[in-house]
Amino acid sequence: MNDISTERLLQRFIRYAKIYTTSDETSDTVPTTQRQFDLARLLATELEEMGVPARVDDKGYVYAHVAENLPEDHPASGKVPAIGFVAHMDTSPDAPGEAVQPIVHRGYDGQDLVLPGDPQQVLRPEDMPELKSQVGKDLITSDGTTLLGADDKAGIAEIMEGVQRLMESPERLHGSISIAFTPDEEVGRGANHFDVDGFGARIAYTLDGDVLGKIEKETFNAHAATFKLGGYNVHPGSAKGKMINTLYAAAEIIRRLPENMRPETTEKREGYIHPRAIEGGVDRCTIRLLIRDHDLEESKRKIALLERISDEIRDLFPKVTIDLEIKESYLNMGPKIDEDPRILNVAMEACRQVGVEPFLDVIRGGTDGARLSYMGVPTPNLFTGGFNYHSVREWASLQDMEKATQMLMKIAELWVAEV
Ligand SMILES: [Zn+2]
Repeated sequence: MNDISTERLLQRFIRYAKIYTTSDETSDTVPTTQRQFDLARLLATELEEMGVPARVDDKGYVYAHVAENLPEDHPASGKVPAIGFVAHMDTSPDAPGEAVQPIVHRGYDGQDLVLPGDPQQVLRPEDMPELKSQVGKDLITSDGTTLLGADDKAGIAEIMEGVQRLMESPERLHGSISIAFTPDEEVGRGANHFDVDGFGARIAYTLDGDVLGKIEKETFNAHAATFKLGGYNVHPGSAKGKMINTLYAAAEIIRRLPENMRPETTEKREGYIHPRAIEGGVDRCTIRLLIRDHDLEESKRKIALLERISDEIRDLFPKVTIDLEIKESYLNMGPKIDEDPRILNVAMEACRQVGVEPFLDVIRGGTDGARLSYMGVPTPNLFTGGFNYHSVREWASLQDMEKATQMLMKIAELWVAEV
């Protein structure tokens, strides 16, 4: 039997998961979808009800502050650095996110889990070895027709529950805690309008990871590359000596990308160059690529490779105009987080103290934390107990969510001893 606060965590998660907050890459508004305000307002209201001042800004961000509760005669009084917890409210546009019906599977028996809304959707331990450690725990899934939204509503529920428990337990001493819930993380804009000063903390943790114990302090260095090719179009019947077809040059660019630098041939700390879109016709063609590497020097080598290819194609197709543009998207947060070893040490120790063995891993992607780390708020990413994100087969483990909740409360307490 779960205790009453674990059940409250579950109900909280279900409440948030049901709210439709899918973000939209094609939208130019801030946030990209107005519906994200529905969750933002609910969270702010719930925080206020706990006695935690909270606000929703016009960009859809929720900010809240839990005051330090150290007695005045405590040696650390007024000296504990403010720390923050961050999670994102939107869910991925990659899977349906409207009318989510969370289903709680009590005491998982280790067998295949068939999702009732679409019996084709089955969670099989043989496909998902992570399920094997969940026997006896309570799992939450969708009904199979939508994603669950544990990414990142598990993180939100844990922060909200952790804050409520701290408010109910004045004997648990902590410094000042900043909370932020961001919109549009899934479309890469979660940090765009983040109010660093309003947030207040200069150290933070995103709760946006997955399996129990995993702590992530490295993201990719991410760049976007765009080739713009220009040619000349004319009726093919009278094109001799006149037409300049960019598509041949485009094909040649793609052909020269090394096979061992593709997303589908790399893993772990191996970076890639990924041609993600090509659009155009005879007279104009655009190729969009992603460059990803944990090592910045390797990223620079990949950029140099694209520049070399660009030069070669220019020689090969002298009449085609070729323009290569490289833009930085975000950088690996690892070097920023390493600047203050306490940030990770406290998280690892908090994990151990709640009975979970922590392990470090690298993210093959980015988080809000990567951008925040370069905005003056170093922000590693912590596990939430969810898994298989952006999928109708997404799931979360209630007992692992409970551990994440305990961990973040412990982090707040352990920072008092760091002074
Ligand atoms: Zn996420």
